[in-house]
Amino acid sequence: MSLTVLMNAGPWLSVPPPGYGGIENVIATLVPELRRLGVRVVLASVGSSTLPVDEQVSVFADGQFAALQRPYNQVCGIAQAHLAGVVRELHSRDDIDLVHDHVEAVGLATLAAMGPAGPPTLHTLHWDLAKHPALYGSLDGGDRVRVNGVSASQLARAPLALREHSVGHVHLSTPLAVDADRRPRPEKGEHMLILGRINPGKGQDVGARLAHRVGFPLVLAGPVGPYHRPADLAAAGDEARQNPDVRFFLDEVAPHVDGDLVRWVGTVAGQERDDLLASARASLFPLRWEEPGGTAVVESLALGTPVVATARGCLPELIEPGRTGLLTTDEEELGDLVLAAELLDPDECRWVAAQRFTPAVMAQRYVQLYERVRQSASAA
Ligand code: UDP
Repeated sequence: MSLTVLMNAGPWLSVPPPGYGGIENVIATLVPELRRLGVRVVLASVGSSTLPVDEQVSVFADGQFAALQRPYNQVCGIAQAHLAGVVRELHSRDDIDLVHDHVEAVGLATLAAMGPAGPPTLHTLHWDLAKHPALYGSLDGGDRVRVNGVSASQLARAPLALREHSVGHVHLSTPLAVDADRRPRPEKGEHMLILGRINPGKGQDVGARLAHRVGFPLVLAGPVGPYHRPADLAAAGDEARQNPDVRFFLDEVAPHVDGDLVRWVGTVAGQERDDLLASARASLFPLRWEEPGGTAVVESLALGTPVVATARGCLPELIEPGRTGLLTTDEEELGDLVLAAELLDPDECRWVAAQRFTPAVMAQRYVQLYERVRQSASAA
């Protein structure tokens, strides 16, 4: 296939990310598969990205993740500097057939503003947009600019202006799903795991409270704001409280973290992350937001770990209750479901992941959407 795609990952983290990194993980999973299908990929990210691509464009040498913790106008400033570089690049060449953009509203608006001078653009929505109806405003760029969701539920909740420009949804995927059904059955430990950013939406406080009430060991893995290790947070002092996720952790979660039944291990990466996930009895997602895509959900299934979750956002699309997980709308009932999760078969989870969530499935679907976007742009 002769198609050149500029993949805009933004300036936040290198690709693949050093540990935590939802969008960067998606791109690191998608790009090798697209290239296998013959797509040329120009990656717009930061200089420290190591993902093999056909070309790389960068404005910043290193990831600007720490800047995400600053007020939103500064975050936008950094994103805009990155995007100005991308737009300069697009103006200087004519071989880019399509931009696949992942940089929130600001990315889409900038690319749309290029008008007919810009290539057709597919923007992947990564957030729950019902809470931010004003974020995207009206979408200029007409038929040159399209969006896709990472779940049907995310799209259904998105503002009308976005839904009108949608070409469908593509579920997230993980390289862990490749051959997941053929790997040896994982050894299970006693612990439950919540893997993700420590954040009220992810509900670590609910999980920690349930662990004490019901009496199950719970491991919390993930960063607290910019802090990846418990020692870094402890050393940060009072200034750290300026970050809302730090305040959430210190006020709502930490009182339940006793280092015995409930532990916070900080960010886990690579084999350590996979082992922690594969050896968990179940992954817990006590969500308080409408989870838009849930990479950690599909990673859990791929490693043979059933999912116990509140039935919010994409969870009912990803999980087959009674087969790969258990869902409830009642926060308190999660505790009972944790106990029932051991009745679920890890091999069923891995088999489903190997069918539904492989990088190949995701890439084929994106190639279909790229065609749709190009067709509607050329028909305009
Ligand atoms: N992650 C990780 N280490 C951690 C916490 C999270 O590698 O300690 C990864 C996780 O495996 C997943 C991503 O970060 O690939 C989080 O993506 P998800 O869609 O689950 O959540 P988001 O933060 O994007 O809402």
